[in-house]
Amino acid sequence: MRRRYLLLFPLIAARAAELGAGTIRGWLTAGDQPLVVTSDGRRIPVDGDEQVRGVLRDKRVIGSDFEVVGQMGANGVFMAAPIHENPLFVHKGGKRLYVTYWCDVCAIRTRTPGVCWCCQEETELDLRERKD
Ligand SMILES: [Zn+2]
Repeated sequence: MRRRYLLLFPLIAARAAELGAGTIRGWLTAGDQPLVVTSDGRRIPVDGDEQVRGVLRDKRVIGSDFEVVGQMGANGVFMAAPIHENPLFVHKGGKRLYVTYWCDVCAIRTRTPGVCWCCQEETELDLRERKD
């Protein structure tokens, strides 16, 4: 009996970590509803504000080892924190990198894909160790 509890404990702890404020990590998967597929095979729908949604649908980010900071909703959808709290990361080469976008022409950094508000050129994905 005791042994069974020990086996269950890590699973329960993992669940608890996802309720309330927390973080999820896994492979970002494309679709009408973006998903994070965790290493233990769970498929967690993710959503957020408009700028977060922009990143979740960015082909340059889809398929990466992705981390979202936010909160598990009662509907089972993990809601990312607002974009200004920098809730999105890509893990690469053992590093946790902020997802940012950069306009080389204007030296302007943004947090969501799209055209630069200054020169209207397409911004480039720029994963960095610092958020600014
Ligand atoms: Zn620009």
